[in-house]
Amino acid sequence: MPAVYAEDHISAVGNATYPPAAEWLPGLAAAMPDGRVSTEEAVLAAHAGDAWFAASLPEAVVFPESAEEVSALLKFASEKGVPVTPRGAGRGYVGGCVPARGGIAVSLMRMNRILEINREDGVAVAQPGVITGDLQDAVLAQGLFYPPDPASLRECSLGGNVATNAGGPRCLKYGVTRHYILGLQVVLMDGTIVRVGGRTHKNKMGLDLIGMFVGSEGLLGVVTEITVRLLPAPPASATLAASFAEATGAAAAVQAVLAHGFLPAAMEVADHFTLEAARAHLGADKVPPGNAHVILELDGQPASVRGEAASLAELLRKVGALTVKTATTPAESDAIWGLRRAFSGSLRATGLTKLNEDVTVPRSRLVDLFVLGGALQAKYGFPVACFGHAGDGNIHVNIMVDPNEPDTTTRMEAALDELFDHVVAWGGAISGEHGVGLAKKRWWLKAAPAELRRLTAMVKSALDPQSLLNPGKFV
Ligand SMILES: Cc1cc2nc3c(=O)[nH]c(=O)nc-3n(C[C@H](O)[C@H](O)[C@H](O)COP(=O)(O)OP(=O)(O)OC[C@H]3O[C@@H](n4cnc5c(N)ncnc54)[C@H](O)[C@@H]3O)c2cc1C
Repeated sequence: MPAVYAEDHISAVGNATYPPAAEWLPGLAAAMPDGRVSTEEAVLAAHAGDAWFAASLPEAVVFPESAEEVSALLKFASEKGVPVTPRGAGRGYVGGCVPARGGIAVSLMRMNRILEINREDGVAVAQPGVITGDLQDAVLAQGLFYPPDPASLRECSLGGNVATNAGGPRCLKYGVTRHYILGLQVVLMDGTIVRVGGRTHKNKMGLDLIGMFVGSEGLLGVVTEITVRLLPAPPASATLAASFAEATGAAAAVQAVLAHGFLPAAMEVADHFTLEAARAHLGADKVPPGNAHVILELDGQPASVRGEAASLAELLRKVGALTVKTATTPAESDAIWGLRRAFSGSLRATGLTKLNEDVTVPRSRLVDLFVLGGALQAKYGFPVACFGHAGDGNIHVNIMVDPNEPDTTTRMEAALDELFDHVVAWGGAISGEHGVGLAKKRWWLKAAPAELRRLTAMVKSALDPQSLLNPGKFV
């Protein structure tokens, strides 16, 4: 079922026609250095999809090794009218790098060098194919900290993070990828290589064009170099895990923590269905009692972290926590975060198909969102599992679908319609992290008013007038 559902999303987009591959493939091979172009079946198949359900085969995959090669490729594609879809590691969750209209998939994964780490300036310069976790490790070895921490950080690329403005648990205190991008080198669809921003921590020269490219989902240009801001690595951290009788109590505790002046690096919440799935998958003894769970991470200097952890534990008990555990060693902390990391796998182990929506609501609506999850479950007959970044109001609402049940697609779409209607009415966003891509295309129309869609289309057509860069997506 989800495959059919995904195909609907592909076929429902645009009706432009592009030249057949036979017309441009020989010229492509001639335009690129040897070893850069592949039309092997297995290579095409490996570049057809991402971590979502949709897949669409490109007609060629190109592996450029420099900005100049990307420029030559885009110039060629512009001249021939061939669609080009940039991709990083292909671990996106919305079909963003799916070459929905065929043509050329351009993989940035051979451009995978960290070019500079500069302690004094607090910057690193990297190519887009660097794996995010590798950059974090490399800067940490020099006492520096690159905070953005998508759960996929061991497998996704920095370029993909820039293109999706990736976030993670630490966004509460440290912000999303956008807040760490000082400069970008981008290749435009006409082949122009342009630098926006620079390497200073403040820069108010002209328009915020970095902000235009960050989160642009491969629709406006191909990112070929990234300069990031680094912080001093905090020397100490502590992790607290608290259990609650109900998800609504956990959501209220999140508000209490902030209201009392604490700013944890991360504040994560999980609901009853998620915890039950983890109990079934990992063993009941691995999951604390109760129907909801909150994880909090503190970081800073050792004495202040110790003091804050003690006060925070006291506050959590006061606001109704059934249990509070404080971990101060890396091993104890890892055990708590290990449970958090296991939530997705535990939900998949139920045998149901997990439709992961990453909505964000104003934090005052957290309780309403959990209540809505329960209501959708009762109305449509799907289990709904909610967990995620409570501090940001960014919750993964997972609709757990049995594809063999009757009317699954219709009921599922109705449930998602209702979810997104509420989120939009509350002033929320239909995606806080993963982007729109193909998966949320249908709801982009709902979430973005006509004037905003028109402005987005104007930006797109200014940079890509033939609509060749990642066509078939939401613009
Ligand atoms: C298990 C799992 C957990 C995840 N957890 C998180 C999470 O916590 N937070 C989060 O934000 N996301 C998360 N994601 C989603 C995903 O990992 C992120 O969106 C990530 O940024 C994608 O990077 P990628 O290299 O895989 O990009 P891809 O999937 O290859 O591409 C994603 C988008 O970026 C564009 N793109 C890629 N590289 C470039 C480039 N160099 N120039 C221009 N456009 C480019 C593509 O066209 C596409 O639109 C998760 C995914 C999985 C599978």
